[in-house]
Amino acid sequence: MPRIVRVAVPVPLHRLFDYRLASDMAEPGPGSRVRVPFGRRQLTGIVVEIADNSAVADAKLQEVSALLDQRPLLTEELMQTLSWAARYYQHALGEVCEAGLPTGLRSGRELPESGVPALELTASGRHGREQPGHRRGTRIDALLSLLAESAQSTAMLDLEIPGWRAAARTLRERGWVSELRLTRQPAGRAAVAAPLLNPEQKQAVDAILGSQGRFSPFLLDGVTGSGKTEVYLAAIREAIRHGRQALVLVPEIALTPQTMRRFRERLGMDIAILHSGLSERERSQAWLDAARGEARVVLGTRSAVFVPLPAPGLIVVDEEHDTSYKQQDGFRYHARDLAVVRARALGIPIVLGSATPSLESLANVDAGRYRPLRLSQRAGVARPPSLQIMDLRNKRLEEGLAINTLDAIARCIARNEQVLVFRNRRGYAPVLFCRSCGWSAQCARCDRPLTVHRGAARLRCHHCGAESRIPSACPECAGIALAPQGQGTERIEEALKQRFPDVPVLRVDRDSTRSRAGRDAVFEQLDVEGPRILVGTQMLAKGHDLPNLTLVVVTGVDEGLRSVDFRASERLGQLIVQVSGRAGRAERPGSVILQTHHPDHPLLLALIRGGYPALVSNLKDERRAAGLPPFAQMALLRAESKSLVDATAFLTEAVALAKSTGKGIMAHGPLPAPMPRRAGFQRSQVLIEASTRSAMQAFLPDWLEAIRTWPGARRVRWSIDVDPVEMG
Ligand code: ADP
Ligand code: ZN
Ligand code: ZN
Repeated sequence: MPRIVRVAVPVPLHRLFDYRLASDMAEPGPGSRVRVPFGRRQLTGIVVEIADNSAVADAKLQEVSALLDQRPLLTEELMQTLSWAARYYQHALGEVCEAGLPTGLRSGRELPESGVPALELTASGRHGREQPGHRRGTRIDALLSLLAESAQSTAMLDLEIPGWRAAARTLRERGWVSELRLTRQPAGRAAVAAPLLNPEQKQAVDAILGSQGRFSPFLLDGVTGSGKTEVYLAAIREAIRHGRQALVLVPEIALTPQTMRRFRERLGMDIAILHSGLSERERSQAWLDAARGEARVVLGTRSAVFVPLPAPGLIVVDEEHDTSYKQQDGFRYHARDLAVVRARALGIPIVLGSATPSLESLANVDAGRYRPLRLSQRAGVARPPSLQIMDLRNKRLEEGLAINTLDAIARCIARNEQVLVFRNRRGYAPVLFCRSCGWSAQCARCDRPLTVHRGAARLRCHHCGAESRIPSACPECAGIALAPQGQGTERIEEALKQRFPDVPVLRVDRDSTRSRAGRDAVFEQLDVEGPRILVGTQMLAKGHDLPNLTLVVVTGVDEGLRSVDFRASERLGQLIVQVSGRAGRAERPGSVILQTHHPDHPLLLALIRGGYPALVSNLKDERRAAGLPPFAQMALLRAESKSLVDATAFLTEAVALAKSTGKGIMAHGPLPAPMPRRAGFQRSQVLIEASTRSAMQAFLPDWLEAIRTWPGARRVRWSIDVDPVEMG
């Protein structure tokens, strides 16, 4: 009897493929990787099941080229979750499985060995510090004294001694240090002691520990600086003590060196880190260490939700409201939601934490599905910041800042404290405008203004990445009255440097932190105390602790108020609360200035009077009345093509089919996308609404199955987005 394996192959086809096993090949378990021929290529697929027959004729059945794993790489639970996700998000299982693996494990290459690269002292190195001529206080000295305590992983050295590699080279030449691999065990360094938990924190920790070993979702709703991280750490420590693993998800921008160090020091162990800034090899290593059960704690961003946990104990999703948990292209999953699915399958508690919980999670609390845990006070001595509206009407502005705002900044600096000016737009100016004829620089492929980047001397499209020189004369009238309009972070930085020449001004945005060196430099400067002005985008909304920061200025509020997306108010409220939360985290009280032309806007009034809970209660009423999520389910069918005709024809047919066959759903469209043209493509979409998840899930598979067979579907680029977070 032929032995058949059904394989999830990484192609956008919604089916499995059967292959024959050669007679001398061991039988792989589900979750093992195999190399298989596919057309002219060799691809790495995942075995889903073993069978003894196939609908494919024997003669046509191809053979597995190689079995890559003797033991399955993906656990049974992970295979179940991936299958669930493929069905729920209507995405091909082969591609879903691929997304679950780090890039380094998608090829046929051999698995890296266990453990992490590390450095230790040799016998002669041990006496190095006593030798004549050895200078104290150097980097070499720092490295020697750290290694004298114990061998250190290179990741730990990165954190502890910036620039250690040059020192290590010197020491290696002297024969004082050597390389080794450490398994991820407690590093043997004394963990930094935990603070005494306050009663609310203790209550939260007790509730979580009381549900060890069973599925139990919690929403930890705690104001910024209330000590949520301390609650996670206490619960994680217990999980580790019981020989279990903990998975901690954080938004991309919150995974700073400071966060990593805090976890390492407080847990006293070398944790596995997973994020996109690491090398392929580092990611594979961390993933495998988790899969082998060696890494007890995994700290990572979105895709870390797919890490195998052979000894699962606890999952934490920090800043659960953050939109970076939603994958915006390809396999459009939501890592927070999948984390809950996994916790259920694994039978473990999961803690979703935020100072500004999403309406989705709050609705789950209202429905009794999640247990609420509350931290209502800032931890330690810190007090909540005071919020103040700066009415910009009829005021003279200097580069977007009111004179009164600038005065408040000056006073703060005079007290030797730090200021954060928040501007959610990078670059110098969002528009380049001709004052003679009214021309402005637009992206030819997106119909949107190009952003002026003065430092790089370029015009850039923030939607498609197109770039060009900044013209010296107007292409329309040849005049030279070209003026940048509006302010980006670069321009505000420049203005503040001119106004406060004696104060360091540090800009933190994607441009200033793009390179690893730039990022390191920024984080190093963030640790310097003394007066300083920070200018930045939402990258500054969380992550690094800034104890000396006492004033936060929020600009660009009005742009948020004008947005048409139904989630815009929720987002703006979250952003204001999160950014405000940066002020006054230590002994000194903090204050926040919101600059706006709409001082009476209900959203701002609600925030000032009742904080985020007041805003949320208004938003819930609005959403319920309008039948919007979380009180309804949504899916978006997007289509784009070079000519609008093709996208429209495709979507019109899709709407017609939905209306004639769909039960319990409503189909709207085709509607132009909020950005009707991007990168040269015309974009349009259809919105499906359902009152329940099950109605949506009952409708989507057949509808999409039919659509996939249409010839017209080949003339457009289309995709389905279940539970869309961006409506564009
Ligand atoms: P969150 O995660 O809610 O923003 P953190 O856990 O980062 O809050 O705590 C904010 C600050 O308060 C940190 O510096 C932390 O060390 C400190 N802190 C937290 N809990 C306590 C406590 N029980 N006693 C003293 N300090 C605490
Ligand atoms: Zn002109
Ligand atoms: Zn563009």
